[in-house]
Amino acid sequence: MASLFGHGLVGYTIAKVANSGTGKLLLFLAMGSAILPDMDVLAFNFGIPYLHPLGHRGFTHSIVFSILWGGMLALLFGKQRKTIFFAVISLSTLSHGVLDALTTGGEGVGFLIPFSDERFFFPFKVIRVSPIGIGKFFSEWGLQVIFSELKYIAIPCLLVLLFLHFKRKNNEH
Ligand SMILES: [Zn+2]
Repeated sequence: MASLFGHGLVGYTIAKVANSGTGKLLLFLAMGSAILPDMDVLAFNFGIPYLHPLGHRGFTHSIVFSILWGGMLALLFGKQRKTIFFAVISLSTLSHGVLDALTTGGEGVGFLIPFSDERFFFPFKVIRVSPIGIGKFFSEWGLQVIFSELKYIAIPCLLVLLFLHFKRKNNEH
């Protein structure tokens, strides 16, 4: 994974891009959904190996999962705005796997599960993989993760958010 912060920030940015007035609920769901796929590390506790379809970076990181999850939350919480809820939540969920496929470590991401168990990385791996567990996060490794996420996640997200902010401010005049 990238870190929780990296994933959450991308979910937040996606919700903001969709609509500045999306409200706190959708922002919250988008951030949560961008972090959620890593619940699959629990699989290790059940002895499910990394490369199993239900293992880490498996089904919860897939395109099918992000569509199902987005659809479910849109039905539960979307009310009159199901389409935008579906789009934002699905994209936020999928953004998790996309970030993971840009990291320097671990195994690839099972984007196509359950249709194919193949694991994928992008050809350019630029984000230092984040340690699992908070203890190791406060280490030299943790620092390198923070710097690479600043470069490749935080700064691009903040630029997008700033751009939106000024664009929408202008539109108000
Ligand atoms: Zn992950």
